[in-house]
Amino acid sequence: MLEVRNISVSYGKHEALHQVSLQVQPGELVVMLGANGAGKSSLLKALGGMVTPQAGASASAQLAGQELMQLPQHAIVQAGLALVPEGRGVFGDLSVKENLLLGAQPRRARANEASNLEQVFALFPKLRDRLAQTVRTMSGGEQQMVAVGRALMSQPDILLLDEPSLGLSPLMCKELFAALARIKTLGMGVLLVEQNARQSLAIADRGYLLETGRIVGEGSATELSN
Ligand code: ATP
Repeated sequence: MLEVRNISVSYGKHEALHQVSLQVQPGELVVMLGANGAGKSSLLKALGGMVTPQAGASASAQLAGQELMQLPQHAIVQAGLALVPEGRGVFGDLSVKENLLLGAQPRRARANEASNLEQVFALFPKLRDRLAQTVRTMSGGEQQMVAVGRALMSQPDILLLDEPSLGLSPLMCKELFAALARIKTLGMGVLLVEQNARQSLAIADRGYLLETGRIVGEGSATELSN
């Protein structure tokens, strides 16, 4: 389980995130909903080690009991947390295969590279046919599949996704969300940050509402939809 307590992030004097706490259980899909600038990306960046949360005695982020705060990014991935960043972060000049295999570098995943690759193909069959394609020549939706696939190659316990539906066509969005719904059935916990409330609540178990850096509501997906 991912257990986050009282995480705050500031950029200079601007506090983007104020004492945010949340939980994600294995096999659970949790959505964090919020408008532009609510602090969603700051939360995921703090968990992934890309920004440093404010130090405080009560601040912590534990995955299966291991403290992640203050760990370098590669150690966070090794502990079992993978982030698909906003904008995907794929290597455009490399092939699909090269991008996916880069995701398999963490020690925890190396021995299972072949079976993890099969799992990615089962979720995104299109990628099997496109292994040799240079990623920058793919559509936005296809690139998002590569980004999610690369994160899955690190065999995470928890997958973090920063607005994966951004800029995708309605059809691609539907395909992507269907794949995300299948990912949680593999036993992974998924924390999905989104502005697209309707579609993300349709696949989520629970959710939180983030407003100007603070959690202002939480509940089951059904409660939040209502
Ligand atoms: P969006 O959906 O637009 O990406 P968000 O909910 O992900 O928004 P954040 O990107 O986390 O929000 O930003 C939260 C606040 O922190 C915003 O007011 C933003 O301007 C500010 N902010 C984010 N990154 C930085 C930075 N590197 N330096 C200064 N301020 C920042």
